[in-house]
Amino acid sequence: MALLPIQEALEHILSAVPAPPATETQSIFDCLGRVLGKSVVNQRDVPPFDNSAMDGYALRTSDLPGTLPVSQRIPAGAPATELEPGTAARVFTGALIPSGADTVVMQEDATPAESGAGHVTFMHPATRGQHIRRRGSDVASGESVLEAGRVLQPQDLALVASTGAPVIDVYRRLKVAILSTGDELVAPGQAPADWQIYNSNSVQLTSQVRALGCEPIVLDTPGDDPKEIRSALQQAAGIADCIVTSGGVSVGEEDHVRGQIESLGSIDIWKLAIKPGKPVAFGRVLDCPIFGLPGNPVSSWVTFGLVVKPWLLAAQGAVVPRHRRIRCRAAFDRPRPGGREEYLRVKMADDMSAGLSGDQGSGVLSSVGRADGLAIIPIGDVFQVGDEIDVILISEFLSPSAAC
Ligand code: AMP
Ligand code: MG
Repeated sequence: MALLPIQEALEHILSAVPAPPATETQSIFDCLGRVLGKSVVNQRDVPPFDNSAMDGYALRTSDLPGTLPVSQRIPAGAPATELEPGTAARVFTGALIPSGADTVVMQEDATPAESGAGHVTFMHPATRGQHIRRRGSDVASGESVLEAGRVLQPQDLALVASTGAPVIDVYRRLKVAILSTGDELVAPGQAPADWQIYNSNSVQLTSQVRALGCEPIVLDTPGDDPKEIRSALQQAAGIADCIVTSGGVSVGEEDHVRGQIESLGSIDIWKLAIKPGKPVAFGRVLDCPIFGLPGNPVSSWVTFGLVVKPWLLAAQGAVVPRHRRIRCRAAFDRPRPGGREEYLRVKMADDMSAGLSGDQGSGVLSSVGRADGLAIIPIGDVFQVGDEIDVILISEFLSPSAAC
């Protein structure tokens, strides 16, 4: 099988996204990161009444400049009566504007009488409507405030709350089985033999899955044994909406994951033209979609973001824009063309030039931690220091609100 360019692989993978899951009604306090299943329509004007944007005085512009008696005091959350002509109402931020008033003068531009006799002097004229937040000026009643497919962020939930809705319909979380494989793995906290390493992919993949609003199910780690892998895959397919494995998917004698996927289902895609992360399998096990990611920790981290993330978001009904790429100046060079699209860990300087953040080995996690971005080097590209390259910020790469 020839190496597949990432865009082609993504087209195929995204064409295999199932219909979104059923929706469920949830408290807005429990919806961070969930995907909105039904548009939210505003039931009441926001703001619901004309109100003051300032601490100050509400009055008629035709009475300015001049000295006016203060005829009422209206804090936020209090009712008001009609403003008597030739008077001012003391108002505070958020207060109802009394009918009759057509402007607000901020208190810094007013001089209350020192005697405390309830008069206030305004030296200057004012513009009609100033410092008044008009009813419905933010969102009118009947307007849609959020569309289905939105990955809900704190500000979205605040917007929903401002319309008065305590609950919304969100898509059910997808269950994602996580299966790290390899004889060499022991869980952090367990005693490793001298020839063993700690399993870092399980926690990395679990965290990524959770950050996308899905429910991770971490399975026991099978060794490099076809039977153990087979029964773990069968178990995973029975309990999850999707399976993500790490390790054992390459061509070595000890790589049994690919063979077991094929024997229990099918593989549609294998081997991408990317670095790190060439051996990535996508297919089905007993009708359950499966991503077989490489075991090297940086490879599994990168390929999750490039390939699994867009699928999981789409399969949860999310509609998200593509990762933004920013143009940066390279602080390193690339004298020879490569045969795969490369994702290099880069650190951004204050002038937004991008330098390598350290060793680019596919097992070197420390340089991921030091990186601010991933520079994308197209197949065959060469460049010199100072040339422009494309970078995806790591924060964007990990965000549930964008995907490749
Ligand atoms: P594999 O994809 O199985 O050929 O593994 C490639 C490399 O990644 C080997 O050095 C493995 O020891 C390492 N590796 C595989 N799985 C994990 C894991 N879960 N955590 C950390 N390293 C791993
Ligand atoms: Mg292995």
